[in-house]
Amino acid sequence: MSALTLVGSPSAARVSAGPVLRVDLAAVATNTRRLAAATTGGLMAVVKADGFGHGAVDVARTALAHGATWLGVTSLAEAWPLRDAGLTAPLLSWLNPVDADWTTALRREVDVAVPSRAHLEAVVLAARLSGRTARVHLHLDCGLARDGAAPAAWPALCRAARRAEGAGHVRVVGLMGHLPCADTDAVSARTANAPGRARFAWGIARAREAGLRPPHRHLAATSATLTDRLTHHTMSRIGAGLVGIDPGGSLAGARLEGALELRAPVVQVRAVRAGTGVGYGHTHRTGRATHLALLPAGYADGLPRTASGQAEVLLRGRRRPVVGRISMDQLVVDVGDGADGGVPEPGEQALLLGAGRRGEPTVAQWAAWSGLLPHEVVTGLGARWQREVAR
Ligand SMILES: *Cc1c(COP(=O)(O)O)cnc(C)c1O
Repeated sequence: MSALTLVGSPSAARVSAGPVLRVDLAAVATNTRRLAAATTGGLMAVVKADGFGHGAVDVARTALAHGATWLGVTSLAEAWPLRDAGLTAPLLSWLNPVDADWTTALRREVDVAVPSRAHLEAVVLAARLSGRTARVHLHLDCGLARDGAAPAAWPALCRAARRAEGAGHVRVVGLMGHLPCADTDAVSARTANAPGRARFAWGIARAREAGLRPPHRHLAATSATLTDRLTHHTMSRIGAGLVGIDPGGSLAGARLEGALELRAPVVQVRAVRAGTGVGYGHTHRTGRATHLALLPAGYADGLPRTASGQAEVLLRGRRRPVVGRISMDQLVVDVGDGADGGVPEPGEQALLLGAGRRGEPTVAQWAAWSGLLPHEVVTGLGARWQREVAR
């Protein structure tokens, strides 16, 4: 990943018909290297939800080239495109119904998490019928009361898995947990994670007693990887960090780079008088004579309506306020009276979101404006953007 090849150059962007979503894989590469350096264990690149909206295959391939050795996804349906793309790295899928397509998972060498006896039995059956050995990761709930086995069910699950291992139907290659309160700063993390760490240590001990010797034990996601070394075990599962999101806002995370850029052409500019109501409900009235620029992207494209009245975009190198309500397909920007940098013209590109190096808004800023998590911003971007990938 040495040369940065732009699929669409700035001049191509000028003639492109509409809004563009550009993914910068060099940022993913940098983030992967930094996260790999931050953990004492290995690194699983979590590319669920289409790689947090950045393109699962692109993010996976980039992460594998820069220090990740595993891939992780939520459902099996998210695993197939990675195998279709020719990625052969170990791949784990951790959230599936009991009647999921375990047979295809076996055939395509996808590891599966097992959170219950019912799941184990279904996986064993698929393994027996296909004459293969399933690679499983036993999943212990470490405090979310969500997915994973409840502690009361864990020792029996471990013993059943050991019996299935003895019969040759499964191989328990991993134990996994997930922390409920890791999204915090480095000072609070050790305390916040203490119950989850203890639960996982307990789970490892019970698995050992049952005779299991799994080589992989993974608990930490991005936050804990950056802030709490006691959670690292043999591997971290990193999703948000790959695309520059630091859920805990830790100091270490400040060194992660945003990998997304959103831009859109000005469709129209009009001069308006003071007191002009803008958009649905006239939630904004111009305070002076000014110019309004129209951009063809809205909440159906993932620009949260709740950011109305707060969001800004970069136009002609200056921050300009988004005024009135963000609509489904469009938003309006107050570009002033021309005194400050001149009035933009139709066809000029507005930068709605980026890594922040040119003064443009970041994912974190859109999240703050809209009351969303950065994760929600990047995974909610909609299908209408013309995608570009800078490799
Ligand atoms: C999403 C997810 C991860 C990755 O978390 P990030 O905070 O995005 O790094 C890890 N493990 C599980 C079980 C997840 O659902």
